[in-house]
Amino acid sequence: MPQHDVLVIGAGLAGMRAALAAAEGGANVGVMSKIHPVRSHSNAAQGGINAALNPEDSWESHAFDTVKGSDYLGDQDAIEIMCREAPEEILHLEHLGVTFHRNDEGKLGTRAFGGASAARTYYVADITGQAILHVLYEQLMKHEEVYRYEEYFVTALVQDETGHVAGAITRNLRDGSMELFNAKKVILCTGGNGQIYNPTTNALVCTGDGIALAYRLGAPLMDMEMVQYHPTTLAGNGLLITEGARGEGAHLYNAEGERFMEKYAPNKMELASRDVVSRAEQTEINEGRGFPDGTVHLDITPVPRKRIHEALREIVMVARDFAGVDILNEPVPIKPGNHYVMGGIKTDTDGLCPVPGLYAAGETACVSVHGGNRLGANSLLDTLIFGRRAGAHAAREAKAIAMPTAAHSQLEDEQRAIDTIVRRERSGRRVSEVKAELGRIMDAKVAVYRDDEGLKEALEGIKRLQEEAKTVAIDDKGTVFNQDVLGALELGFMIDNAEAITVAALERKESRGAQYRTDFPERNDEEWLKHITVTHHGNGNGNASSDDVPELAYSEVTLTQWQPEARTY
Ligand SMILES: Cc1cc2nc3c(=O)[nH]c(=O)nc-3n(C[C@H](O)[C@H](O)[C@H](O)COP(=O)(O)OP(=O)(O)OC[C@H]3O[C@@H](n4cnc5c(N)ncnc54)[C@H](O)[C@@H]3O)c2cc1C
Repeated sequence: MPQHDVLVIGAGLAGMRAALAAAEGGANVGVMSKIHPVRSHSNAAQGGINAALNPEDSWESHAFDTVKGSDYLGDQDAIEIMCREAPEEILHLEHLGVTFHRNDEGKLGTRAFGGASAARTYYVADITGQAILHVLYEQLMKHEEVYRYEEYFVTALVQDETGHVAGAITRNLRDGSMELFNAKKVILCTGGNGQIYNPTTNALVCTGDGIALAYRLGAPLMDMEMVQYHPTTLAGNGLLITEGARGEGAHLYNAEGERFMEKYAPNKMELASRDVVSRAEQTEINEGRGFPDGTVHLDITPVPRKRIHEALREIVMVARDFAGVDILNEPVPIKPGNHYVMGGIKTDTDGLCPVPGLYAAGETACVSVHGGNRLGANSLLDTLIFGRRAGAHAAREAKAIAMPTAAHSQLEDEQRAIDTIVRRERSGRRVSEVKAELGRIMDAKVAVYRDDEGLKEALEGIKRLQEEAKTVAIDDKGTVFNQDVLGALELGFMIDNAEAITVAALERKESRGAQYRTDFPERNDEEWLKHITVTHHGNGNGNASSDDVPELAYSEVTLTQWQPEARTY
């Protein structure tokens, strides 16, 4: 059985950064990914990464913007750590070889981003995620004590008799073989869950696997109701037009030719926080001032052509190929679309979860630095800072303990469960049908505007899909790259994620950040300045079942130097 001091599940930015830090801390590391690491969704990050590196800027200003952006739900101790450590991390990346944009003076150049009081977003054209991901992958290859397991899919986590996490069960995609990996510490870095919505900006692989794996183990999920809708996604397919476009000077217009952000955020206009801009757009559309196809327009023509070619070249192609629009000469129709989950597995600032031996970092985790709403370009930063901290901590802790015992019986149980899916004769619905219905429900009822009735209907639908998912049949009966079987497993993960989001959204009876309840339209600090955690006490490692009731609890928001105040832009 393969054994590692630290097993990192996921090889996006969080996972690779965690693996590097753990290796530098002297641990023997395994890093695992269901796709080739450089295809992880981090690859799609366009706009950039925030840091207060400029002498006129300060980490306190970055931290305050983040706190305000979070609608005061972010934990300020974690936010302080992230913003204080950001400049060092950017310089480290630059020294590793990330070719950040330089200005005319030859210094690192920045662009403006939403909700920020200074231009502090560092970038590589509009391929920032890709640039960093490739550099970290090169670093991983350099480390002999890091073992890469590429195209391995984790189906379950394993605990020893005391409840300490002892490893994971995996399926090798190349031949379908199943293995038990034994580890002293496991770090989940499996990214977000955007695929439970349709449309979404997220890649097909963003199915919330790690969130569900931890949920099934009894780990609390926090802030799950906080789901970010990005203001500028292409109608129909959900592809992202980076916030960098507005950062460079693009404007938003309704069908009446009005630059409507004047009404909603007179100071910051298009560069207000994402929740504010998305809500403004949705209001314009709902009140009949949108275009007939349910969109508003993003006009990039105020940005000088040279600058578009230099800094936004990717979205010129995205708009041309996927919307048939030449953004150099005409506006592109956009609408708010699912983009990011602020919530995730509850961790402390070293990535530790309440389940012993288990860590999480990146979009999978909730530290919580984003609270009710994430600022653009703070997520790449979150993945790197807390990925590094989790890796370093896990390596230190692993030295002090013996290898926990992982029972083989769970491997056999998992193998049997997968065999059952493969052998099942078609009687129920297809995976794709159930997934499409889930996406429709979430986008209709658990989106920018929510209310009690809609959320209850959504939960009912999710419970029904939970049952239907148990009988889905697949066509591919083979062992080599059987994506069908993975689709069925991912569907189970997605439904668990959807349940946690909806239950938490129903519970929070106020409007804060990305959660806007039309039946509770005000923020209510007296009753709701607290995190909601959702814990699953169901049937162990199996899918959540329709009669399980997730347990809800609250935890304090950590305030350090910023008291909640009214939030205007
Ligand atoms: C289109 C787009 C643009 C964005 N732009 C920006 C931006 O400009 N700035 C910014 O700050 N943020 C941006 N974000 C958000 C940011 O990119 C993500 O939040 C961040 O990259 C997530 O990184 P991660 O390491 O947590 O996860 P990911 O990069 O998603 O990696 C997840 C990893 O987990 C692995 N994995 C998942 N499930 C399993 C399993 N069951 N078994 C084994 N492996 C598994 C995957 O293979 C993958 O390697 C953007 C997001 C999107 C979708």
